[in-house]
Amino acid sequence: MAGSKYAYVRNFELPDPLLPGTFMVFRLDGHSFHRFSDEHGFTKPNDVRALELMDHAAKDLMEQHPDIVLAFGESDEFSFLLRKSATLYNRRQAKIISTLTSLFTSSYVFHWSSYFPDCPLKYPPSFDGRLVLYPSEREIRDYFAWRQTDTHINNLYNTTFWALVQQGGQSTTEAHATLKGTFAKDKNEILFSRFKMNYNTLDARFRKGSTLVREEIPEPPLPADEEIPTSVREEIPEPPPPADEEIPTSVREEIPEPPPPADEKI
Ligand code: ATP
Ligand code: ATP
Ligand code: MG
Ligand code: MG
Ligand code: MG
Ligand code: MG
Repeated sequence: MAGSKYAYVRNFELPDPLLPGTFMVFRLDGHSFHRFSDEHGFTKPNDVRALELMDHAAKDLMEQHPDIVLAFGESDEFSFLLRKSATLYNRRQAKIISTLTSLFTSSYVFHWSSYFPDCPLKYPPSFDGRLVLYPSEREIRDYFAWRQTDTHINNLYNTTFWALVQQGGQSTTEAHATLKGTFAKDKNEILFSRFKMNYNTLDARFRKGSTLVREEIPEPPLPADEEIPTSVREEIPEPPPPADEEIPTSVREEIPEPPPPADEKI
């Protein structure tokens, strides 16, 4: 299509296709949610309303994009696995990242008041998004193990930190100092001996994050009297005609005479 004299600027837009046949992992993360959670009075260390709102936005994304088969969320982040065969937006990277990020963000804002009815948004939240390609299932397993291990490490730290502040009367600076250089067993010991908390009995959502899986719902079977199993139909081949059998007349009649050459006199 002929364009205006300005149309040449379009040529500066470079293609950004993603390698075919690879798994896409899309991750987004809340921008400055340390501040956002403070300003909106999130319960520390884990605000259930905020986690459920994240899950809701993630489900909206999975509903609009059937290529997403798995999602994992913790804190202010969510990761999404897209099948290898995904062809959305012709695998154009900027289109995928920007559309998924903005859909998640608008869904988060759209549903905010259902989860925080008494706390209007003070300013518009935003999320960053990134996309990484992985060649095989091994990296995919390790990717999600990496995120879930991160959930555990952060949650153990945050749980102990906020116990020291909220129940132990320490300042945030003191609590950070108390935890400096401690191992997991030390934090478990602080929680148990000083606050009578058994870390392993905390809500699994806090310790393990939330996982959403797309389940294929099988087609419901046909009513009994209509049911003709395909496999049976396919297993009954047409009998081949015996080699020397006469071709039935009706079939022969269906074979038209070839048209005469154009210049032939009839
Ligand atoms: P960045 O913009 O670099 O991501 P950030 O302030 O968002 O900065 P993160 O490392 O993403 O930093 O951490 C998110 C922070 O948001 C957590 O440390 C926590 O303070 C807060 N937060 C997120 N979700 C919740 C929640 N459900 N309950 C309580 N606090 C939360
Ligand atoms: P894509 O997802 O590829 O961008 P699209 O449907 O958004 O598809 P665009 O080329 O971006 O297609 O065109 C946006 C369309 O939205 C316009 O063609 C018009 O129909 C409609 N539209 C956008 N803004 C307005 C507006 N202010 N008033 C009326 N129609 C509008
Ligand atoms: Mg970050
Ligand atoms: Mg963040
Ligand atoms: Mg984060
Ligand atoms: Mg458009």
